Amino acid sequence: MRILIVEDEEKLADIIARSLKAEGFAVDVAGDGAQGLELAIAYAYDVIILDIMLPRLSGTEVLEAIRQKNRQVPILMLTARDAVADKVKHLSAGADDYLTKPFAFLELLVRVRALLRRAPVQQRADTITVADMEIDRLSRQVKRAGRRIDLSAKEYALMEYLALNAGRVLSRNMIIEHVWDQSFEGLTNIVDVYIRQLRGKIDDGYDLKLIKTMRGAGYVLNDEAG
Ligand code: CA
Repeated sequence: MRILIVEDEEKLADIIARSLKAEGFAVDVAGDGAQGLELAIAYAYDVIILDIMLPRLSGTEVLEAIRQKNRQVPILMLTARDAVADKVKHLSAGADDYLTKPFAFLELLVRVRALLRRAPVQQRADTITVADMEIDRLSRQVKRAGRRIDLSAKEYALMEYLALNAGRVLSRNMIIEHVWDQSFEGLTNIVDVYIRQLRGKIDDGYDLKLIKTMRGAGYVLNDEAG
C-alpha cells in the first residue's frame, strides 16, 4: 500500500510518514500543493492524505485537479478549520473523508485503513471482465468462456481483488491486506496456497493462463486479450 502525504508542516508530515511506515505502508511526502499534484498524477497511490492550507496550490485545488484527471484514489483531507461549509464543499468536490487538526495518529490510521477497504468509484462496477472471464459481483459468480466456475468465499475474494487490479502486480502483502483482514497473522504463503487453488479452477484446461507469477514480486492477472 502506497500513501502520499501532502502537508507543508514538516514536523507533522514527518510524524505521520514515520508512523505510517512503522505500520508497513510505503509513504511519499510532498511539501506543497504543486508537488503533491505532480506525484498524485505520476503514481498509483492507494490513499492520499491532503492538507488544505498549502503553498503553491491549495489542497482544494489539488483535490479538484486530481478528480478532473479522473483519478479515483481515496483522498483524506486535513484541516485546522472545522467549518461545516468547508467539509461539505470538499466532500462534494470528491474528498472521501475529512480530519480536523489536531488529531491522534490512531484516528488517522483508522480512517486510512477504512479508505483502503473502500474501492474507488471505477471499482464499483457490477461486472468485471478480464479476457474471457466474467465476474458478476452481485451474485458473486465467475465464468470463463461462458462456463461457470465454483469458488469458495475466500477464493472469490482473491479472484475479485486480482481482477479489479488486472495488469497490476500485486505483492503477497497487498493481497493479504485486501483479502484477509487486519487480524490475520498467518504466513504469507497462505497467498500462494490460495493462488494454487484458484489456478486449478480458473486456468487449468484453458490455453490462456490468466494468473501470472512475477518472481520475487507477487502475482498479476493477465489483462491482455488473446
Ligand atoms: Ca498546511
